[in-house]
Amino acid sequence: MAARPSRRRTATLALTLLGCLALPHVPVLLTSRTAPAVIYHNGVVLTMDQTRPHAQAIATSRDRITAVGDDEEVLPLADRVTRLVDLGGRTVLPGFIDSHAHWIGDGQLVGLSPEQAVEAALRRGWTSINEQFVDMPRLNRLRELDASGALRVRVNAYLPLNFTDDKFTWFLDHEPRYTYSSHLRVAGVKLFLDHDWGTDFHWDQVELDTFVLAAHRNGWQVSAHAVSARAHDQYLTSIARALAAHPDPDARHRVEHVVQLRDDQLARMRELGMIASIQPGLVGASVTEQGFSELVARGDPKWIARWRDLVDSGVRAIGSSDMPWLVLGLGSHATDLPHGSPLEAVHQAVTQRLTVDQALRMFTVDAAYGTFEEDVKGSLVPGKYADLVVLAENPTTAVSLPDVGVLATIVGGKVEHCADPVLCR
Ligand SMILES: [Zn+2]
Repeated sequence: MAARPSRRRTATLALTLLGCLALPHVPVLLTSRTAPAVIYHNGVVLTMDQTRPHAQAIATSRDRITAVGDDEEVLPLADRVTRLVDLGGRTVLPGFIDSHAHWIGDGQLVGLSPEQAVEAALRRGWTSINEQFVDMPRLNRLRELDASGALRVRVNAYLPLNFTDDKFTWFLDHEPRYTYSSHLRVAGVKLFLDHDWGTDFHWDQVELDTFVLAAHRNGWQVSAHAVSARAHDQYLTSIARALAAHPDPDARHRVEHVVQLRDDQLARMRELGMIASIQPGLVGASVTEQGFSELVARGDPKWIARWRDLVDSGVRAIGSSDMPWLVLGLGSHATDLPHGSPLEAVHQAVTQRLTVDQALRMFTVDAAYGTFEEDVKGSLVPGKYADLVVLAENPTTAVSLPDVGVLATIVGGKVEHCADPVLCR
């Protein structure tokens, strides 16, 4: 559903290969009969694409990136109607992807209407958000927002199996990865395994096996809230059984939170090709909670927040804000949402031993993999959506990551947030 016309894609690939292998100074660009609508130039472009990690300029047409390269490569593509935007040395990254949040679904808990929640996300640099609890009424509301043009950020919906008024199997009436529009898509199912720091469990193993298998067999990506090591034991067992019954080397089932994890569980996650969906701000925000310290005491302190171990061992990690629940946990309010910021989340990840580059990947290119959307987002490559964020500083060299300003957020080539008029005329 997210696939592009194959001829364009072939052209991209051919030129990408040409650019990489034979002619390193040829810009990576799509063949296009028309000049770009916009060229952003004179910038520090961190593409998050390993074949060309650094560039100066990006060209866009309609909702897509059409070229990425140095100024001397991209600027000649302009014609007299192309809008030239001088970045003045500012940094451009792929738009940030919030892999686990409840911006719209629970925004009212911090006083945000759905429209205000969308605006709040865009202001912080998110171009995509995964809404992790979208029951039937919420799905209908997202569809209404989308139809009215108010869904200015891209949303991936995860449909809950438990803690919903809908019957457990309601998701089977839907189609996995169904795309309502370029801004609204059903990504997977969500289930909750434990609550209250691993003292409250919601499934017995047979039940869990049954529902995980039903979802897996029907092509759904499963996303499960698991905090304690015991919850991981349950979930990993169900996933292993589902994969044994219906092998799929690319199922990409997800664990949400992954707070407490033993070595053997980490190895099993890797073997099963699972994704660790983590909130770098969660552990720092929780250290004063009694339930959290009791969870730590029930195991080895080394089992907590193993983000770096996961990444180093080859498990794909994706990052998120868990808005507004982290903020609520901190007793904060809507006008003060530090943990709603990707830069704050990157900062938290770095304080927990990840490198800035590893952390940025969790919020861009790896996050796109987390929803099977690496073909259309997550890095700045011709053919992908023109989802960009312009930052006041380069996060890889900034002294204080949380203070890096978000100057513009661009979704599908459209400037949806602008804090610097020079960039948005
Ligand atoms: Zn959540």
